[in-house]
Amino acid sequence: MPVYEFRCQACQRKSSFFVRSIGGSLSPACTACGSREMSRVISGFAYHKSMATIHEESGGPDRPGSDYYKDPRNIGRWTEKKFKDLGMEMPSQIQEMIQSAREGEMPESVKDLQPNLTDV
Ligand SMILES: [Zn+2]
Repeated sequence: MPVYEFRCQACQRKSSFFVRSIGGSLSPACTACGSREMSRVISGFAYHKSMATIHEESGGPDRPGSDYYKDPRNIGRWTEKKFKDLGMEMPSQIQEMIQSAREGEMPESVKDLQPNLTDV
């Protein structure tokens, strides 16, 4: 659901409104003073919100989506996170394996680094 920000022309306060349908009728009233003299503000807020949603949908090391480990860029993220969580430096041998896997190679040893998804 898109979020539009409007600035009140009367008191200059900004208010955010959820818009149910793009192009639908929207007559926002200032949440501070009730004025309907509102002008649209193009804000960074909605953009950041949608980026967060994208990250959420593509999954993360903590909650991998079903396609998460099919993406070579995600290979090794779980391993990297584990080492980070433990406060350990990842051995360069493992770093190299992850790097080559991201470049399209998939040595058997890297497959073993992947978490057992049936275990989650
Ligand atoms: Zn106002």
